Parts: sequence; C-alpha cells; structure tokens
Amino acid sequence: MAVVAVLASAPMAAAQSAQGFNKWIRDFWPTARANGITANTYNTAFAGAQYDPSVIKRATNQPEFVKPIWSYLDSAASKSRITNGRRMKKKYGALLRRLESHFGVDQHILLAIWGMESAYGAIFKNRKLIKPTIQSLAMLGYADRRRSKFGKTQLIAALKILQNGDVASSQMMGSWAGAMGHTQFIPTTYLAKAYDFDGDGRRDIWNSIPDALASTANLLSTAGWQTGKTWGYEVQLPRNFAFELANGKTTKSLAEWQRFGVQRVYGKAFPRPSDQAQLILPAGYKGPAFLILKNFAMIKRYNNATSYALGVGHLADRIRGGGDFAQNWPRQDRVLKRSERKEVQTILNRKGYDTGGIDGRLGSKSRSAIRHWQKRNGMVPDGFASGALLQALRTR
Ligand code: CA
Repeated sequence: MAVVAVLASAPMAAAQSAQGFNKWIRDFWPTARANGITANTYNTAFAGAQYDPSVIKRATNQPEFVKPIWSYLDSAASKSRITNGRRMKKKYGALLRRLESHFGVDQHILLAIWGMESAYGAIFKNRKLIKPTIQSLAMLGYADRRRSKFGKTQLIAALKILQNGDVASSQMMGSWAGAMGHTQFIPTTYLAKAYDFDGDGRRDIWNSIPDALASTANLLSTAGWQTGKTWGYEVQLPRNFAFELANGKTTKSLAEWQRFGVQRVYGKAFPRPSDQAQLILPAGYKGPAFLILKNFAMIKRYNNATSYALGVGHLADRIRGGGDFAQNWPRQDRVLKRSERKEVQTILNRKGYDTGGIDGRLGSKSRSAIRHWQKRNGMVPDGFASGALLQALRTR
C-alpha cells in the first residue's frame, strides 16, 4: 500500500528529477575530491540529502509586485524587532561591549544585522524557512540554471567547513540560497570571515551568539568599518533644491551639503561636519532624504541593496533609542509592477537613454537615465520611477 501511495502522489517527472539529483551528487564527487574533500566528508555530508524542488521554486520566483520601500522598512524596523533588539542589548550587554572594543564596530549595527538576518535567531524555529545547507546548494548546482555556478562554489566551501569540524552536517542549516546560521553567511563568506570569539576552537555561527556576532563584526571591520562613525542621517531639503545632486554619487562634506540648504531633521547638528556623504531619495522627492556615509557601503557588503542598508541603519538607531523617520513616505502613491518597470526602461531605451538593460530592476544606470529625461522634460529630476513618471513617458 505504501508503495502504491508514493507512486500515486509522485509524478514521473519528480521521480526522474530525484534520480537525476542523486546522479548529480555522484558526478560531483571528482570535483569535490580535486578540491581536497575526503570521501568520508563527502559521504557523511550527503547522507541525508534529498531532492528538494522547493529550493528551485524559491530560486526562480520573481514576484510581479515589488514591495514599496516604506513597507520593507516598516517590517525591517517593526515594533517587535525594535523591542527584541533592545532586549538583546540588555541580555548581551557585556558581550556587545567586548565586541565593540575588539572590532571597533557599533554594537547597535551588530544587533540590527542580527535582527534583520535571523530575527535574533527566531527563524530557526520555522522549519519551512530552514533547510540543510548541503542539500540546498546541491539543488542549486543541479537544477537552477542561473545559480548553478554559485551553488557548486558554495557547496565546495560548505564541504570544507564540515571537513574542518566547525559544525556537524546535521546542524549545518540555513536558507534555500545557502545563507547559514544567525549571521546568514554563505559558505565562502564563512570561510573568509567567521570568527571564534568564545574560544572553543570552532567557529559556530549556528549555536554560539558570541561567535555569530563576532563574525558579523569581523566582516564589517575587515571591509573597512569606520569606528565611531554612523551610517548616515535623515535630512531635509530646501525648496527648489537641485534634485539631480541626490544621485547617491555626488560626494560632499556634511558642511558643504549644509551650504546647499540640506539640514539634519529634528533641528539636530551633524557631530562631524567634515565627514564625506552622498545624498539619496529612496522614494523620490516626495519621500524622506538621507545623507549616507562610508559605513553605509560597509552594511551593503552584507546585502547589496539600499533598502537593506537603510533598514539596518534605521533599526540600529531605533534600538539605540532614536525615533521614527521625521518625514512621511509617499504611501498613497502606486508602486510600479515589474512589468511596468521594464516598460519604463523600454521607453527610455527607445528615446535613446541607456538603462543598462531591460530587467525591471532600476539600478544606477536606469535612475540616471530617468533623471536626465525628467530634467529635459521639466519634471523634478529625482530619478524615481513613479506612476506619474510612467504616465509621462507614455504620452510624451
Ligand atoms: Ca566558538
């Protein structure tokens, strides 16, 4: 009966894929051996690995609706994440002070990254989100066209971690994309940056909070974190501001920005007016503005997205005791779907502007193209793809 039931619920393609997966694991062995992996490590690592199509489903899922940055930040610095962050600050106060003096990285940034990456470890209670890393990476290597090379490289690194004895393969858990432990390090980042801070001889980012937070601190400090400095400031812009300066690239000292009328919110002064900064408008001219400092780029080493770095920076400020954003987000505005973002890029290309491709992702080239078109057409050149921008592009 059991056999019949399994056959009935498992379509032919899935059975073939599972076989293909097992064959792929056998075929990958010479590559692993050439990279110094022993047969014992290899066999132990793959002992429980199973064909898991949910990894590929996640990997190829490109949602049509793009989350507005204000929704992203609402959940990044949610009430519970701020409260839990402050609770962790109390609980691990002595450890955080030691980490700060050892690595020179602000403890609130460490707490915020921990909160963003694994909700201070709470994600490990969600069995759906947490998968065996070896299995996930092998699935990517076997079946995901775009991430196959990534999967194989990370799989070799993961096998090396197991061979070093840092963690048992049954405990090597993480996301479908191979991000592991409290810090969500991918295996190559782990090999380069993980840190044994509790001194037991193993770099354990899965079970040791000292090791996990030290690994994050080590990554930031070796990337070039500037001790004693912040990530950036929310600022207010004057009327008739030259919005093309808000391009995330033009670099001026805070004092120079002030001469352009840029002010820190809540009437506060900049503690170090000589710090160099760039201006960004993540939701266009109708939303909050930020001056970002060098440490903003260090946070992006973790996850190369402006929304992520802003989420970490803001959450860190909130855990420290700071308030919410001073300016409102344009929450009433419609956010463009992926297909509409592609349409923006297509129209700009047709008009002779370089958007760096048509992928629905509005990177610096696309934003620069928008800015130039806005300027030429008498619109505020904020480089932001709003519904109004798409409408104007369609009709002019
Ligand atoms: Ca350790």
